[in-house]
Amino acid sequence: MARSKLIPFALLCATALTACSTLSPSAIGVSPEAMAIHQRLLSLDTHLDTPALLDAPRGYDIMKRHDVERDGSQVDLPRMNEGGLDGGFWAIYMGQGPLTPEGYADIRDKALIRSTSIHEMVAANPGAFEIALTVDDAMRIHAAGKKIVFLSMENSYELGDDITLIDTFFKLGVRLIGPVHNGTNQLADSANPGTVGAKWGGLSPMGRAFVKRANELGMVLDGSHSADTTVEQMIDLSATPIILSHHGVRALNDHPRNLPDALLKKLAARGGVIQMNTLFLKASPPPSAERVAALKALSDKYGTVADLTGAKYEAYLDEMGTLNRTYPAPMADFEDYMKQILYGIKLLGVDHVGLGGADWDGGGGLSGYRDITYMPKVTERLLKAGYTEADLAKMWGGNVLRVVKAAQDYAASVKK
Ligand SMILES: [Zn+2]
Repeated sequence: MARSKLIPFALLCATALTACSTLSPSAIGVSPEAMAIHQRLLSLDTHLDTPALLDAPRGYDIMKRHDVERDGSQVDLPRMNEGGLDGGFWAIYMGQGPLTPEGYADIRDKALIRSTSIHEMVAANPGAFEIALTVDDAMRIHAAGKKIVFLSMENSYELGDDITLIDTFFKLGVRLIGPVHNGTNQLADSANPGTVGAKWGGLSPMGRAFVKRANELGMVLDGSHSADTTVEQMIDLSATPIILSHHGVRALNDHPRNLPDALLKKLAARGGVIQMNTLFLKASPPPSAERVAALKALSDKYGTVADLTGAKYEAYLDEMGTLNRTYPAPMADFEDYMKQILYGIKLLGVDHVGLGGADWDGGGGLSGYRDITYMPKVTERLLKAGYTEADLAKMWGGNVLRVVKAAQDYAASVKK
């Protein structure tokens, strides 16, 4: 069914819930009752990669509704309203580069620019977004009908060899921080260690200082992208519970970005939360030779997609759309996602699983779960499985806020 024909109904539901009671189902096939419950919940996502779009030369209008099937984007204000997403942690993500003074300086500056772009997005739309520094802020912003913008940092390569920069990023609003991304760095071993390899056996000496300082400042530590050894040491060393902002279950798919049950149980025993990722759900078959060849030809023709603007970008999107229809990418589906969510809840309980960690705008999304407008599907499924609205309130946002509060309370208790 063409979604475009159904969007007006979804918008109607988002703006006038009572109107939906006479119409069923919604654009994504969710009942009006489940949609109403979903819209009542405070939902937070712990890893929004959307800020990377803001820094592309063509920019990104967060106030405009985009089409995931056209440009692949997954988050904007109209879709936050449709999907009932009340905010989250907007990531300052930087890829791993050389562990050199030049590499450190370059990435530090890029991270500062990304932080500024998030603040600009909020400053330009003060009626729609507001920066949250505390749990109280988040509650107040939500009550005012605005979207919650916490900042987070994915990869702390940006700190270079200067641990005091963590204070700078805290002052800029960062409240959730992970030491590493793909490629072991100066702080920690990565789940994908790359050419540097597993150098530290977990956290480096600087990585241990990083955990201590994050605790003192009241930042939550994020174990996603860390090696198992790093995650375990973060759990052991951190004075407050840690979050896996976008993570999966290794018992269902043996992948280094997923965590084994024993470590997940240890995370939960210390009060932590795993936010369910849509990536690495199963070992997908490789793309067909035809798709690989077509992608190569497109790349040769257009170069770096992030740099495309204007008519050239639109032409690229036309060709990419045709390519995807002709040679679809192998993709896990919504059923695979629900299987992981239900497994996680059974293993850890509703206090230690979160539903907002799909890696939107960072490569996440599934067949049948394409962007944030699909989020109510998870709510409906969990209601059908017997979970209550109170359970859902924990998993969509309450658990995350509990961990943020614990980090803040600890910081206040040790403040000199
Ligand atoms: Zn990531």
